[in-house]
Amino acid sequence: MFHPSSLRTRMMLLFCLVVGVLLAGSDLIFYAILVREVHSQLDRQILETANPVVADLASDPTEQDVNQLDLPGNYFELLDASGRVLQQSRNLRSHPLAIAGPLPRRQPRFRTLQDSRYGRLRLALAPFERGGELQILALAVPTRAADQSLARFRSVIFWVLPLSLLVMAVISSAYVGRSLKPITELTEHAAQMTERIAQSPAESFWKPLAVHAPGDELGRLAETFNQLFSQVDAAIRQLRQFVTDSSHELRTPLSVLQGEAELMLSRPRQPEEYQEALRTIDEELKKLHRILEGLFTLSMADAGQLRLDLKPLYLNEVLEEACAVMRSRAEAKQIAIERQLDKDMNYRGDEAFLRQLFLIFLDNAVKYSPPQTRVRVSLEKNNGSIRVTFRDQGIGISPEHLPHIFERFYRAARGNGNEAQSGGLGLAIAQAIARAHGGSVECASEPGQGSSFTVILPGCAY
Ligand code: ADP
Repeated sequence: MFHPSSLRTRMMLLFCLVVGVLLAGSDLIFYAILVREVHSQLDRQILETANPVVADLASDPTEQDVNQLDLPGNYFELLDASGRVLQQSRNLRSHPLAIAGPLPRRQPRFRTLQDSRYGRLRLALAPFERGGELQILALAVPTRAADQSLARFRSVIFWVLPLSLLVMAVISSAYVGRSLKPITELTEHAAQMTERIAQSPAESFWKPLAVHAPGDELGRLAETFNQLFSQVDAAIRQLRQFVTDSSHELRTPLSVLQGEAELMLSRPRQPEEYQEALRTIDEELKKLHRILEGLFTLSMADAGQLRLDLKPLYLNEVLEEACAVMRSRAEAKQIAIERQLDKDMNYRGDEAFLRQLFLIFLDNAVKYSPPQTRVRVSLEKNNGSIRVTFRDQGIGISPEHLPHIFERFYRAARGNGNEAQSGGLGLAIAQAIARAHGGSVECASEPGQGSSFTVILPGCAY
């Protein structure tokens, strides 16, 4: 848990370091201010004691008062300008103060002395005029009380600082641990998913991750993670399904081809039998070819490589051509293709792909409609976009199938088998072509009533 290289430990150490440096810095500043305050307080006190004595001495040059003084903890000496002791309080008789160095001439000066007998002393040197000559009153007081106060403060800091750091370490560790919990969960979750992918490739590997605090950064990370992996999961499943479906779709015509070939080779046959077999083989080969072409178009579209040969054209003409191609198949089922294509509609697009797109809808409309019905094809410009609609009176698509019909190999129903089968790829290809032109496809359908597919193309995109 407390691995030295873990983010939690590093963040905890960083917090403690920052707080430690700030606390130590502020304690030091506070201590320095306190030392100054204590010393200036002491200096003021000393001056307050010295001033009356100085005033007394200055007023009477013959006065020998200092020699009489014996205040506990107050050591007086009267010096001349050269530092010679003129008078001293009684408590200094046996051991005078050792005052060295230059003496002040105008303003009082303060020093700290270390005396072998009296300990640490704070010394004030107050110069004054006495009978026309400069004299200096020296007053020293022990600093013991002030030193003790400062020592108490130091010991408080000595305990409080490490204690604060300890409390900081505990709080930051708990807080960082709690904050990083979603990341730990995310890591474990990702590890489980990796395991699931390897163990059961057929199943969905994704399980949503719990989002604890949806508003914060980690909550958003978990949400993004969920979205990302649900999409990756869907894409992987789609890909697997696609591979399974494609191999299944390709296997059927291949088995037919193989069966026919084996049957013909099993014994000598009549020429008509060979012809019949070759027709079947030709049909199956065409089917295979269509599926492979479709798969190729889709894979190019997926890779964004559907190369469109964009040229100015008239959409109504391309539609007319597609209807003409479908005419014989529609007539065979007595289906009338009604066209409302009288207006010229110029457009810039890939003619071959657009024809393929329209043929897919016409083919489906004929395929999924009973005989003696109508298929209506209309072309109109609406709010700057072009709408090409194919409306049939066919079997329709039930609501549960409708959301899936554009998926690859998805089939809600089959035609009667004589039509050009796209192998369930038709609408997927149609959607890819429409999207490559910057458009889309919409479908509305009612079972038993008919379907309507609308290709919406941007009117002025090219
Ligand atoms: P295919 O027609 O080869 O099965 P498509 O991708 O063209 O593949 O169509 C997918 C499915 O959508 C079809 O299997 C069919 O169930 C449904 N479908 C498409 N067009 C129509 C239509 N005009 N009427 C009814 N169902 C349709």
